[in-house]
Amino acid sequence: MIQLYIPLNFLGVIYREIKQSLADMERLFHLLDENREIADAAEARPLLTGGAQVHFAHVDFSYESKRQILFDVDFTIAAGTTTAVVGHSGSGKSTLSRLLFRFYDINAGRITIDGQDLRDITQASLRQAIGIVPQDTVLFNDSIEYNIAYGKPGASKAEIIAVAKAAHIHDFIESLPDGYDSMVGERGLKLSGGEKQRVAIARTLLKNPAVLIFDEATSALDSKSEQAIQAQLKEIAKDRTTLVIAHRLSTIADAAQILVLDHGHIIERGTHAQLLAADGAYAQMWQRQQAHPDEMESPSPEAGDG
Ligand code: ADP
Ligand code: MG
Repeated sequence: MIQLYIPLNFLGVIYREIKQSLADMERLFHLLDENREIADAAEARPLLTGGAQVHFAHVDFSYESKRQILFDVDFTIAAGTTTAVVGHSGSGKSTLSRLLFRFYDINAGRITIDGQDLRDITQASLRQAIGIVPQDTVLFNDSIEYNIAYGKPGASKAEIIAVAKAAHIHDFIESLPDGYDSMVGERGLKLSGGEKQRVAIARTLLKNPAVLIFDEATSALDSKSEQAIQAQLKEIAKDRTTLVIAHRLSTIADAAQILVLDHGHIIERGTHAQLLAADGAYAQMWQRQQAHPDEMESPSPEAGDG
């Protein structure tokens, strides 16, 4: 009994951890299939993506019945554009990306991609359509080639090299004694934060998803690497429907739309210029980050708690 209980419980813990971090969830999903809380509908169809417009329509959500996390969240990411979400820690930013991945079902409202409700499409096709560059990339104990190819099982070597070049990691890989066969991860070569993030970018380029999510915290990186990574993230987000969870406001100033989330409510929305002109919560965050550029998480926008 105890022997059975411990591993199951352990899996549950890992599963929750993974859901929280959004890191390498796709692989874990397969491993922990039986632990899934969300099932495909009997008539679920594969997602058909065109431009990949993402729409959250009046979404209410709570993890636990007693505590509502999102309140009437309503926004559209027009096909091929970037929407950034800012707000203090705990405001519900990561929850939005978990819901887009359908880790949980919502209590009210609808989430659609190109008009298709996430509850009506297969999870496999949904996961195929979304690429995530997590803030902390976990590498598998395998070759660096495997780690990149993971974005697209069966990819050719030529494709892998092409995305490695685009992610500016090819020359580094070539400089390793075993090149693309070099083992990485816990039991192999330890890569720096910037190198790992480049691997994640290469993986995502290979997957070529219709929708991109990134949690752009790059606190692990020095400022030079961070700037290089930011430039690359911008490049892969170009013309792709993108949801950015923004920490440094300076990196999202050119987003088509910025949402300010506060305790699960969207309290402001607009472009950077519009929000500065509105002189509200966003403008305060902006001024504060200008004064303290090292601050990573967007500070709480509220003046007095409600
Ligand atoms: P953010 O990304 O803005 O920091 P999150 O979306 O991660 O915030 O979390 C929003 C709120 O939901 C927080 O109060 C957090 O404690 C709560 N929360 C997050 N995950 C869970 C969970 N699995 N179960 C219960 N509450 C959760
Ligand atoms: Mg978060």
